Amino acid sequence: MRKQQYFGFVLMAAMAVSGLGCAMQQAETRSAIFFIGDGMGLAQVTAARIYEGNARDGRLALDDFENVALVRTHSANRMVTDSAAAATALATGVKTLSGRVGMDVEANALETILEKAKRAGKSVGVVSTTSVSHATPACFYAHVPERHDELGICAQLIDRADVDVVMGGGREYFIPDSETDGETGRPGSRSDGRDLIAEAKAAGYRVIHNQAEFDTLSGEVQAGGEPGMILALFDYGMMTYEYERADDAWGEPSLSEMAALAIDVLSRNPKGFFLMVEGGRIDHACHSNIAHAAILEMLEFDRAIGLGAEFARENGGTLIVVTADHETGGLAINGYPALELSGEAIFSDQSLPGGGGILTFATGPGFDRTQPYIEGENGKLPEGELTPASPAYRSPSGRHWRSASHTGVDVGAWATGAGSEAVHGTMENNELAHIIIGALGLD
Ligand SMILES: [Zn+2]
Repeated sequence: MRKQQYFGFVLMAAMAVSGLGCAMQQAETRSAIFFIGDGMGLAQVTAARIYEGNARDGRLALDDFENVALVRTHSANRMVTDSAAAATALATGVKTLSGRVGMDVEANALETILEKAKRAGKSVGVVSTTSVSHATPACFYAHVPERHDELGICAQLIDRADVDVVMGGGREYFIPDSETDGETGRPGSRSDGRDLIAEAKAAGYRVIHNQAEFDTLSGEVQAGGEPGMILALFDYGMMTYEYERADDAWGEPSLSEMAALAIDVLSRNPKGFFLMVEGGRIDHACHSNIAHAAILEMLEFDRAIGLGAEFARENGGTLIVVTADHETGGLAINGYPALELSGEAIFSDQSLPGGGGILTFATGPGFDRTQPYIEGENGKLPEGELTPASPAYRSPSGRHWRSASHTGVDVGAWATGAGSEAVHGTMENNELAHIIIGALGLD
């Protein structure tokens, strides 16, 4: 009898503690920042760490995260995913067909973490170095069957006008084709005659386009000003690679500067916020086999992650999750280079006996470097002789593809802050969305 009473007490105490723990967690986790490194496989992370220090002493902000998992990236129909299906899984918790944006296999719209957070009264934002209508950011606010419908994606963004902070590139899809872009002189892409920049202003967005306007806005926010909704479109297409950002005609902030401003603005909401920050061009640099540029993108992404982790430490109630949509290029770290090697020396092809590269890709244009550089989605690269120390130098690849392929290897997930212990073991990419939705108490 005595023993039964004792066990009854223990059971009730355990239930009370677990119930309390659950209530506390829901009350505590008000905000989440989801960092997505496009194309950021584990080799990209390791290479950035070696560049920054060396294989032993290099340290990234990511390395301080206490909860880590391996993540499977396949889409509902492909072993190797594209960014749209992966980002839809990360944004909605549902695996879908490659190419889908915020829609399931049957092309039904799926409510995203961002939309659920907005419905719960939180402030929401997306920040990327790609066009704001590119697959990863689009999957958090738009719903189209086909990722290339960037005109439709931007129309949805402005028609709804409820994403509080939007920063990245992609003015092209906001400007009517009868007008030209001020920075590049190129015509807009909108064939429907809509001027989405004018419509955004009418809907209450403060629209900015360059470094000077960004600095003015940042100054106002730091002085306690209330900026309202922000639409920042810093380039006609993709934002400039970090290595050539200083040469941009109109000037662009870095990814970490954009993330810092977004956190400043969104965190004023007492109900909390949800922010997605994408290091979007690690992928593009790897498609072009330019490992140096990819690592510089990676390090800037890691700086933004460090700011997010610092915010979570200082403010509490914030969950930080970092992952990748997939790996790009099949990056490898080869041979047996000296432990102390670091910095630009890792791009040299001559460091190893026989002249093999330390960093190589499995596929891509680096196989034959006598071919001209690729232009287009992956950015314009300079012509002429480049040394391995140049950030635009193409590293070797094993198979000659015009653009390197994504690969199907697992990627990492790193989490810190309130509710982060749920990120562990081996996971499917869509489980990460459920963890964030659960931690924020969204339905
Ligand atoms: Zn890609």
